[in-house]
Amino acid sequence: MTLFPLFADLRGRRVLVVGAGPVAARKVGALLQASADVAVGAPALCPELAGLAAQGRLRHLAGGFRPEWLDGAWLAVAATDDAALNDAVAQAAQSKRIFCNVVDDARRSSFQVPAIVDRSPLIVAISSSGSAPMLARRLRERLEALMDHSLGPLAALAERHRPRIRQRLPDLAQRRRFYDWLLDGPVAQMLRRQRPAQAERALERAMQAPGQPGQGSVVLVGAGPGDPGLLTLKALRALNEADVILHDRLVSDDVLALARRDADRIPVGKLPGEDHEATQARIHALMAEHAGAGRRVLRLKGGDAFIFGRGGEELEYLRTRGVPYEVVPGITAALACAAYAGIPLTHRDHAQSLRLVTAHCRDGEDTLDWDSLARDRQTLAFYMGVSRLEALSGRLMRHGRSGDTPFALIENGSRPQQRVIGGRLADLAPTARAHGVQAPALLVIGEVAALAGELGWFGAYAQGLPEPLPA
Ligand code: SAH
Repeated sequence: MTLFPLFADLRGRRVLVVGAGPVAARKVGALLQASADVAVGAPALCPELAGLAAQGRLRHLAGGFRPEWLDGAWLAVAATDDAALNDAVAQAAQSKRIFCNVVDDARRSSFQVPAIVDRSPLIVAISSSGSAPMLARRLRERLEALMDHSLGPLAALAERHRPRIRQRLPDLAQRRRFYDWLLDGPVAQMLRRQRPAQAERALERAMQAPGQPGQGSVVLVGAGPGDPGLLTLKALRALNEADVILHDRLVSDDVLALARRDADRIPVGKLPGEDHEATQARIHALMAEHAGAGRRVLRLKGGDAFIFGRGGEELEYLRTRGVPYEVVPGITAALACAAYAGIPLTHRDHAQSLRLVTAHCRDGEDTLDWDSLARDRQTLAFYMGVSRLEALSGRLMRHGRSGDTPFALIENGSRPQQRVIGGRLADLAPTARAHGVQAPALLVIGEVAALAGELGWFGAYAQGLPEPLPA
């Protein structure tokens, strides 16, 4: 190790920055955030720094560099584009035993500024010891994505209660277990849910009765349409934290591959011979059982849990059972399929509204208002429609939609095997049959569907009925 990492308390301490361009301004910004007493030495200030000087937030030392500028400073930063001047600052600082950073010049620097992830009071600092700053920045981006913003408030809470925790739990092993619980359990969850008072109460309760098994919880997560790149950062974190994952059939293997290795994965799709209600009851029972045993349950659904996903029913069930829950939205099939097929769902020239419709309804009863669905200048996105295309197109045309209205069927949207089949509404069912379209597929009807032919950029596109064989 060539560098010794340390976190400096700069509050009210003088730091000299030499240089007054954009690079210097960035450094000054960071130093002011740490409440340093900043002096900027340069012939003239850039507008941003001049503004700060006018507000009295920094002192301007005008003119060419003079070693006396360093008097009283704890640190110095040389941020000019003149290598000789930077060198002079570094040498003057060295002779006065003041640590000096020369921006982008590790060799001349006696301290370096790490890449940071700020979840104050928690701060992660990363350094490549000057060897590969790009690598440090890349790592920083990864950590930035993985670290939830509630970690800051969690660290602050832990700091406030630290003396009491130490007093209640004098044994080190016991204290470690408690901190694990604090980081993973209901307190962290309450903070993520922006309920600080409840978090505080949960911590109080746990300190009254330490060692009790923690309460489990459920996070209802939309996994998107299949491409793991469409997961949200929150979904990724939930996959990293779950003890048990209850997933639908629609959730892709690529998404499941991102889960914590030792998490239990339980597929909960419909079993042969089981009706939908029995499947749903089985899912409810599994959630209650695992959360009841103190586990973090991830209920993972295709697309978004609240769009034709029965997520509402699952939350109602959890609420009656008093199981705490969170919801993470996912990218629903209509949005993903349209994006990956090059279909703008709304368009100033063609469609002012979008309707998400299921072709599949409870007990087969159809309460859709077909007159309004058949109106033009709107886009319809039909879920679960593959087996009902004949009836669907017939209804829309009977209620007045033109047989020439374009459609696009997007099969396996966003997955490597995605196919888009386009055509006119009057030919919908025979076209789908001719191309052998299978579930999962999303049907888009409306003028915008024709744009897939021009704007499509992913996977295969085919148009209309295949040519009839020559007689
Ligand atoms: N909650 C899900 C929808 C569940 S209903 C969501 O928000 O996307 C299941 C229907 O969604 C399928 O029948 C199909 O119409 C559509 N669907 C889901 N994933 C799809 C995909 N990758 N490609 C095409 N359609 C998809």
